[in-house]
Parts: sequence; structure tokens; C-alpha cells
Amino acid sequence: MTNEQVKGIIRNIPDFPQKGIQFKDITTALRNPEALKWMKDEIVSLYKDKGITQVIGLESRGFIIGPAVAMEIGAGFVPIRKPGKLPADVIEQSYAKEYGTDTIQIHKDALSKEDVVLLHDDLLATGGTMAAAIELVKKIGVKKIYVNCLIELDGLNGREIMDSDIEVTTLIHY
Ligand code: AMP
Repeated sequence: MTNEQVKGIIRNIPDFPQKGIQFKDITTALRNPEALKWMKDEIVSLYKDKGITQVIGLESRGFIIGPAVAMEIGAGFVPIRKPGKLPADVIEQSYAKEYGTDTIQIHKDALSKEDVVLLHDDLLATGGTMAAAIELVKKIGVKKIYVNCLIELDGLNGREIMDSDIEVTTLIHY
């Protein structure tokens, strides 16, 4: 598989969930065994030698490939979730996204200062979601933060709102 082949399998849904959004539907790639494996393998090859101790997935599409990557690189998995889902003490961050606003939460005790973390989501658009996730992780304090998304919408310049010391990788560009 190549980036272009997987890109060809990802389905575009115009005007979902609202008019003007070109929604990148990864379910068509997830149901394809070769594309599913390719996505996991690409991320593993990028991060297997970085000393990652925790992969942090963003609800909900960061929960699909994230744990598979974590298992293969010998890391744990930590969820960042929408309000009201995590049962123990949380810290939270609100943010604007391509459509609407949202709040995300993480368990206060999910990470330690010694952790090297990989934040993972399916898609980087304006970067608001990922920037909020970075802020959450920074509030707890970790050794190093890496960021990966399967897809990047280049025209929205999402990676530019993140600090330059944070390495961002993406596999497929639109
Ligand atoms: P943003 O905060 O603008 O970078 O938006 C990223 C988040 O919103 C990710 O969790 C994506 O799953 C979702 N998202 C934003 N735009 C799209 C899109 N065009 N297609 C699919 N998901 C999107």
C-alpha cells in the first residue's frame, strides 16, 4: 500500500456534518485489511525508536489505531475524552474546531513527568483540537510530546498553531 492508494480509499462526504465541510470518512479505509494495517505500520515505523511510553488517543477516532500502535511500540494507551465520560478526577480544556466548539478531558493521574507521549487523532484540520490536547498534557507535565494524525488538511495550516518544539507527522494530505 502507498499513501496515494489509502487516500483513494478514504471517502469524502460533502456537507457533513454541516454545509461546507468536506468530511474525510476513514471507515472505508478501516474496513480494508491492507489499508488498516498500512496506517498502523506507518505510525509504528515513525515512533518505534522514540522512547514513547504512552500513546494518547483523542475521542473517538483516535481510539481506533492508537491502541494498536501502543501495543506494538510497547507503550500504554491513555484516552482524552469528551466531558462526562471519564470517571476519576479530570482536567479539561475548551477549544474551537472546524465546525463548532468543544471541551476535552483527561484523567489527572493518567501521565507522569517521565512520560514521552504520542498524541494521536484521525485528522488535523484547524489544529484546535490537537492544540487543546497539547495544553492538557502540558498542564500535567511530561518529558516530551509528539503529535501524529492520519490525515492533514494542509490548507487550514493546523500545524502552525502548535509550538515549534513539537514534532508533527501526518500520513495523508489534502
Ligand atoms: P480541528 O480541531 O479543526 O483540527 O479538527 C480536528 C477534529 O475534528 C478531529 O478530531 C477530526 O476528527 C474532526 N474533523 C475536523 N474536520 C474534519 C473533516 N473535514 N473530516 C473529518 N473529520 C474532521
